[in-house]
Amino acid sequence: MINMKRKGLLIVISGPSGAGKGTICKELIKRNSDICISVSATTRAPRKGEIDGESYFFMEKQDFKDDILKGNFLEYAEVYGNFYGTPKEKVFERLESGQDVILEIDIQGALKVKEVYPKGVFIFILPPSMEELKNRIIGRGSETPESLMTRFESAFEELNFVSRYNYAVVNDDVDIATSRIENIIEAENCRVDRV
Ligand code: 5GP
Repeated sequence: MINMKRKGLLIVISGPSGAGKGTICKELIKRNSDICISVSATTRAPRKGEIDGESYFFMEKQDFKDDILKGNFLEYAEVYGNFYGTPKEKVFERLESGQDVILEIDIQGALKVKEVYPKGVFIFILPPSMEELKNRIIGRGSETPESLMTRFESAFEELNFVSRYNYAVVNDDVDIATSRIENIIEAENCRVDRV
């Protein structure tokens, strides 16, 4: 007999900076109140409009390092000189209770999660073109010329990691890309070979 009570899905959404993963995740949780998104911790300064505990848990570097030593992160990575990490406990509590959890994280972090939690669903967001990727990074307006250059270069390199993921979704249109991800989640939840 099929076991109907099962753990939630861990859905890892990543891709290069500027691919639009943040926007897609916002749309996904707006449309699906039963899916929750994990709030990451970071040592970077808040941007205008960002709220502590909602956008990120903003932390001092030393506190972040203490949490690493205590094993409090499912994964963490240094991205553009700042630390980012996924608080472990809440994610597992939610999965155990049957709730699907989304991690919107960078590629280094996604590959670490794949090592420790291979049954996660790994989705790579692709920009529609290189030109569009560049425009989106510039359009944010929150970067210095040096950090823009770093973001471009690593974004282009990061495209090579797509083959390590289960799914690739092109973000040509936020609504359509979000629907594609909803279809993936629905299919994954119908799988009989998932424990
Ligand atoms: P931003 O500073 O633009 O908010 O994020 C920079 C990068 O860090 C993005 O690619 C974002 O997905 C990634 N990021 C955010 N939270 C986490 C996290 O918890 N772990 C990892 N590895 N990357 C994260």
